[in-house]
Amino acid sequence: MIIVLKGGATEEDVRRIEERIKADGLSAHVSKGVERTIIGVVGDERKLDPETFEGLDCVDKVMRVLSPYKLVSRDFKKEDTVIEVMGKKIGGGSIALFAGPCSVEGREMMVEIGKRVAASGATFIRGGAYKPRTSPYAFQGMGEDGLKCLADAREATGLPVATELMDPRDIDVVAKYADLIQIGARNMQNFRLLTEVGKLDKPIILKRGISATILEWLMSAEYIASEGNTRIILCERGIRTYEQATRNTFDVSAIPVLKALTHLPVIADPSHAAGKASLVEPLAAAAIAAGADGLMIEVHNQPEKALSDGPQSLRPDTFDAVVSRLKRVAEAVDRRLGTA
Ligand code: PEP
Ligand code: MN
Repeated sequence: MIIVLKGGATEEDVRRIEERIKADGLSAHVSKGVERTIIGVVGDERKLDPETFEGLDCVDKVMRVLSPYKLVSRDFKKEDTVIEVMGKKIGGGSIALFAGPCSVEGREMMVEIGKRVAASGATFIRGGAYKPRTSPYAFQGMGEDGLKCLADAREATGLPVATELMDPRDIDVVAKYADLIQIGARNMQNFRLLTEVGKLDKPIILKRGISATILEWLMSAEYIASEGNTRIILCERGIRTYEQATRNTFDVSAIPVLKALTHLPVIADPSHAAGKASLVEPLAAAAIAAGADGLMIEVHNQPEKALSDGPQSLRPDTFDAVVSRLKRVAEAVDRRLGTA
């Protein structure tokens, strides 16, 4: 951290700031120029809140040198984190493929969709049993019965299942059935929830908040990591902008930006970004080209009857055709998609 003092700062101001820095076990390096004095903080600056200094009359500005996140940063760990679940990997060369309906709606549909997406090369099955819906009158998910259907789909396909946890009160039941736990966009900054999943021994898919910056997103990942769980997958799912033509705006640049800032795997969800089935393939292709470690795609056997997100869901046969074209995109950038 570098603290730049205003022109009129006195010796006494410098001394007080030095004392404040030392009180946190860090040391100060004072550099007096002709017009300005600059104080450099030596040590782990994350222990200091820049606001402590920003509010002082004698301070012009405070600049961080280190990122405010640590465990998830690329500086902390140079190599890519590769997460393995039931022999399937996320990160490290191949592109993971999560597919399944938005909501689990019953055993038969879940097993049927699971088998279809597995045959097309999916490596993970997704489906929500606890649904974050804008309206309290909309379908809220099947709860534990839905989790049982996911377990049946795992049984039928041998693929690990990912499902959303919305509330710390459901953590035990969700962890009992899920192989990976998703924290949805609306809960990206539910810090109590993040702290709880940080104590689990299960990979966490952390979706980007609806209006979250990349820094806020990484700070949320740091919440999970700081509790001991560093098996975190970041999922770009589009952000809210002024644009109305798509459900969200797919931030493809987040993928290479994150790959530089963090060692965690980064996947993309073109379904929620687009909100429209016809846009899923081009956004997925862009995500692969940008370096995504995986895709999450919504698939439903009867999208017109889906209880949530039907318009953005692909039919299994469309999914199959899309995946075979996307495999060629992956090959073009020396990657392998799904079970390839
Ligand atoms: C979902 O995956 O079905 C979902 C609700 O996603 P998001 O949290 O990204 O909106
Ligand atoms: Mn959905």
